[in-house]
Amino acid sequence: MNLGEMDAWVVARPGPVASRPLERVRLPVPAPGPGEVLIEVEACAVCRTDLHLAEGDLPPRRPRTVPGHEAVGRVVARGQDAVRLEPGARVGVAWLRSTCGRCRHCLRGAENLCPLSAYTGWDADGGYAGYLTAREEYVYPVPEETPAERLAPLLCAGIIGYRALLRCDLPPGGRLGVYGFGASAHLTAQLAVAQGAAVHVMTRSARARELAMRLGASSAQDAADAPPEPLDASILFAPVGELVPVALEALDRGGTLAVAGIHLSDIPVLNYRRHLFQERTLRSVTANTRADGRAYLDQASAHPPEVTTVAYPFDAADQALSDLAADRVEGAAVLVR
Ligand SMILES: [Zn+2]
Ligand SMILES: [Zn+2]
Repeated sequence: MNLGEMDAWVVARPGPVASRPLERVRLPVPAPGPGEVLIEVEACAVCRTDLHLAEGDLPPRRPRTVPGHEAVGRVVARGQDAVRLEPGARVGVAWLRSTCGRCRHCLRGAENLCPLSAYTGWDADGGYAGYLTAREEYVYPVPEETPAERLAPLLCAGIIGYRALLRCDLPPGGRLGVYGFGASAHLTAQLAVAQGAAVHVMTRSARARELAMRLGASSAQDAADAPPEPLDASILFAPVGELVPVALEALDRGGTLAVAGIHLSDIPVLNYRRHLFQERTLRSVTANTRADGRAYLDQASAHPPEVTTVAYPFDAADQALSDLAADRVEGAAVLVR
């Protein structure tokens, strides 16, 4: 099947974003393999994980991979045995690309922990391109009427935030701390507010603090400041290990801190009494299951969140990453075709 060529970005030389790790290229439009669909991309959101991949914090799994795992588009072709989605169907492609379906983690409903799991934009080419392929069983149908720019950030920022909120065991009506206030945090905070939580936001960005208050947060302060009341649960979105002891110390007895990101700088030495005693819990969040994705996207389509985006033309993917690295993006950066 010869489908012509497309514009794409690849991670050519992983390194600091100032060294321009992304390269703009022409690639053949990929042919969908067995069980896969070919999707024409309308928009792809820019996740902090893309920045970690570009900068080499996450080592490449294959050379010159197209990043991007929050893509919205339409099915334009189907591979062998792909029958679930009709051509023309509007879908979202997320981070989890495939799992084995047979290991003990997959079998107990924890496919996010599958040792053979593969990821969009890391193990296979992603959405910083005109087209991408994905396994039809791992893509999500998305509503026709919502602009792609507003849907794309839901596919990782939204879904991962949803899982992080589950993992931090926030009690009903509880007090939630949110450390860092980028794309994922701004969606997750809205979920928690809707559930009746008091949300306290800690972030170094003054504009992000303003956005947090507009979205219903109870308070907003600087990144390492103490919240105005002890917290039942917190989520660390900022990839900053130094904030782990700060956030643990701000928890009430029995509270839980969930680290949402895939990469964190080193955690300083903890002091058992100050940071963990009184049954405080520190846990991580690793990707998501498809059940998380469906549950979150169903909820987002019933009660659409306010999605704050900064649109970039497709040609400006490297600029979007630089802006994300420098905290210049309010909400989510999205590449729009
Ligand atoms: Zn598995
Ligand atoms: Zn992501």
